[in-house]
Amino acid sequence: GSVFEHVEQAPEDPILGVTVAYNKDPSPIKVNLGVGAYRTEEGKPVILNVVRKAEERLLADRSRYKEYLPITGLADFNKLSAKLIFGKESPALLEKRVATAQCLSGTGSLRVGAEFLAKHYFQRLVFLPAPTWGNHHKIFSNGGLTVKTYRYYDPRTRGLDYQGMVEDIRAAPSGSLILLHACAHNPTGVDPTPEQWEGLRQLIRNKRHLPFFDSAYQGFASGSLDLDALAVRSFVADGGELLVAQSFAKNMGLYGERVGSLSIVCKKEAIATHVESQLKLVIRPMYSNPPIHGASIVATILGDSELYAEWTIELKAMANRIISMRHQLHSAIQARGTPGDWTHILKQIGMFSFTGLNREQVAFMTKEYHIYMTSDGRISMAGLSSKTVPHLADAIHAAVT
Ligand code: PLP
Repeated sequence: GSVFEHVEQAPEDPILGVTVAYNKDPSPIKVNLGVGAYRTEEGKPVILNVVRKAEERLLADRSRYKEYLPITGLADFNKLSAKLIFGKESPALLEKRVATAQCLSGTGSLRVGAEFLAKHYFQRLVFLPAPTWGNHHKIFSNGGLTVKTYRYYDPRTRGLDYQGMVEDIRAAPSGSLILLHACAHNPTGVDPTPEQWEGLRQLIRNKRHLPFFDSAYQGFASGSLDLDALAVRSFVADGGELLVAQSFAKNMGLYGERVGSLSIVCKKEAIATHVESQLKLVIRPMYSNPPIHGASIVATILGDSELYAEWTIELKAMANRIISMRHQLHSAIQARGTPGDWTHILKQIGMFSFTGLNREQVAFMTKEYHIYMTSDGRISMAGLSSKTVPHLADAIHAAVT
């Protein structure tokens, strides 16, 4: 007998499992709208031109080796990544009171942040929006924190339940960790307005909660890197403390390179130095140090004004294609006279649309139309193209009528 006889088959990941099912489907008309990865009009993944250029430069540079990075990663990358989210003139950066560590994309940055907090922060409660990216729950509980939720999405309005959000954050014990999506909330595509952000900032600071921003889509929501960083920057501007997990998976198309960073904004430089030293103690026994290639690409692009400018154009083109898919899908649904109000498809922001389709409708669309999406009705707008929009609109029409 095997010593692993008792090991049970685990369920597929609710998001990545969609792709597993998609890959098994032989149908030529199948569409994968499950995973949040950008696709071209032809339905193909892309490498940004600017990424290719950076890689060519790296390859041509014979002074570069594949040596281990320091525990907290590539120093240049860390500086440039923090500058990207906080802004060039950020007082926190000028005052050197930010500890930044290169981590394994957004997920790894959140995980390292969670474990650091579990070790060094007095409050173990972390409040996540309901709903949120499914992985958040496990990242934070595996990191040693106790997960609770705050109201976020109102299915009746398909918009933000601002009142509920405020009530729940107000009722949370003082010092609670509040996870916030910096922009382009996943899965709902619903973000607070600038006025609502200001209300939330005041509430969170008054309650002495500690905000933890997840920034996985900077530049993908509005097409502007600065606009998508405004919420984070408003919390830095008030002088208070916070954490930010950044990912370059989506905005540079570096999904598989696993490049991201965790920044902890502190009150003083000396504190940030201590915090950084403790981050090393979290990271070293976890994976020792992060990979070099992706971080070198990002540092090359962010550190070169020409490449940076080119990147912003390519990024905006991706954001615009997604926005154009929203318009095309909305028009196609309207053209079919599908019952219901579908304006939320236009209003929602970022990579996803939270369609409002229920589990049964999703199952129907997968079975009859070979459209793959998560069972909560979330579709990746980035996986759609002009060619697949009519098919999706047909499926939605059939599912709701
Ligand atoms: N946070 C959110 C809200 C996400 O949607 C994602 C990816 O889908 C991530 C974090 C982390 O992605 P990665 O670890 O690939 O950077």
